[in-house]
Amino acid sequence: MPALKPPPAIELICVGAELLDGHGDDSHRGALALRLRAAGLRLARETIVPDDPEALEGAVRAALGRCDDLLVCGGLGPTFDDITREGVARALGRDLVFSPRLYAGIRRKFARLKVRPPRENRRQAFLVRGAEPLANRAGSAPGQLIVLKRPGDAPQTVALLPGPPREMAPMFDAEVMPRLKRAHGVPGAAVLSLHLCGLPESAADEKLRPLTRRAGPGLDFTILSGAGQVDFHAFASGPGARGRIARCRRQALRLVGGHVFGEGPATLESTVGALLLRRRLTLAVAESCTAGLLGGRLTSAPGSSAYFLGGVLAYHDSVKRGLLGVRPETLSREGAVSAGSAREMAEGVRRLVGADLALAVTGIAGPSGGGPGKPVGLVFAALAGPGRAVLVRRWLLSGDREAVRQRAAAAALRLLWKRLRS
Ligand code: ATP
Ligand code: MG
Repeated sequence: MPALKPPPAIELICVGAELLDGHGDDSHRGALALRLRAAGLRLARETIVPDDPEALEGAVRAALGRCDDLLVCGGLGPTFDDITREGVARALGRDLVFSPRLYAGIRRKFARLKVRPPRENRRQAFLVRGAEPLANRAGSAPGQLIVLKRPGDAPQTVALLPGPPREMAPMFDAEVMPRLKRAHGVPGAAVLSLHLCGLPESAADEKLRPLTRRAGPGLDFTILSGAGQVDFHAFASGPGARGRIARCRRQALRLVGGHVFGEGPATLESTVGALLLRRRLTLAVAESCTAGLLGGRLTSAPGSSAYFLGGVLAYHDSVKRGLLGVRPETLSREGAVSAGSAREMAEGVRRLVGADLALAVTGIAGPSGGGPGKPVGLVFAALAGPGRAVLVRRWLLSGDREAVRQRAAAAALRLLWKRLRS
């Protein structure tokens, strides 16, 4: 077999003081890295610079000296701190030219919203000389694409993309990715994404070792954990990529299949939703420590109104008692964070809402509220449903308040998933 060429190296520059001063988290790296790898390309390096044209100029020059193509994200807005156009133009030794057509397009967007465009928005109609504008369907700032000819070498693409993730990702997918694929003619790339729950990242890593040991040129793996689930990605590029990914999938399912709740774009909530729909079951929730997170996740799945009826945020004992009918003896004897309270919350909300199934969560998210025998992170969930005894689970979850709340919501969804698939 011929030696595989290393995948083309793409660099990313994110522009924004907020990414360096602790106010904002960079999500572009992850979003772009996964997309590039799925296409057989590689994010080789990321540089983060403040909103300073000189800093950006230096970063662009340095990156162009190393990479095949460059993505620059952020700073395309209309305000004084949006300096990406200037910084990139300087690095390329080009000027900025005003595009009346682009400006007319921006004005039309504002007219549709029935607002007068602020004068600063003219700034967004300047293009680096020679750049092609990229349509922004989710916002006002157009992107830009510049192709640099290099004597004796393949052309380099420089793409300028807006900062907000909901504008950046669709523009990248629609306008930039197809061109990168065309430019590099990557000979086949395939990706596998499996989502697991009910085991820690280290256990997933160990169980998948017989598979991940085979990583090498043209095949690599990533295991990521967060929000109560573990994601396993396999990337193959080069000839036979699809076949290799199909074999990886079979082996991964043999190794950890019992924990896999979905593939590709599936989420725990969309998976649970599809199962409820298939079984024609409705659901209600009663939430204490998660206070809406569980309902929020369930309703983030499109079409959830077909099975999710509603719920009660039973944060205070008076609501557990008054609305859900949790017995005063249960609260005084066992406490609000107990198997008995979780069970009665689930039964209560099921009766109240008239759902087929009801899921309840109660726990101690901390940092205060823990005590002897009931540490911070102690969470109970109960699942009440037709024709079966109420299922009650007890977990000791780690992390700070937010982590415990998120993990509790994920663990409750997991309990529901296990019940529905059995
Ligand atoms: P706008 O027109 O909204 O000003 P812009 O292209 O000028 O867009 P920025 O001003 O740099 O973009 O960033 C706008 C917002 O986008 C930031 O406040 C931040 O919320 C988000 N953002 C920017 N860069 C990133 C990043 N790397 N990861 C996640 N979010 C980001
Ligand atoms: Mg901005």
